[in-house]
Amino acid sequence: MTMINHINMANEDNEIYCCLRNKVVRADAEHTQKFCSRCKMYQGNAQGGGIECRWEDSRIGSDWLVITDPFEEWVFNQKKKVSLPIIAITDPGFHFLDVN
Ligand code: SF4
Repeated sequence: MTMINHINMANEDNEIYCCLRNKVVRADAEHTQKFCSRCKMYQGNAQGGGIECRWEDSRIGSDWLVITDPFEEWVFNQKKKVSLPIIAITDPGFHFLDVN
């Protein structure tokens, strides 16, 4: 995982993807006052074009990313990473059960 500054550029409806709320939101004064002002991920207003948010991301290659489609970003962030433990079976007397 890489700590990435996500530069969320607002779309034509002034919407961005918000990681904290895990939804597409309006990047308006209400959202920034209610949520961004207390959010540890907040990095700025993208020079007036949206909201910059910094969090650990599975994407690699750069420590910053420009996001122009908040809905595509929402879809990407619904993919949960699941890791399964690797179990070593060392007991020679171990037998798998046959289930018919
Ligand atoms: S700073 Fe936090 S609350 Fe504001 S848009 Fe980013 S993730 Fe959401």
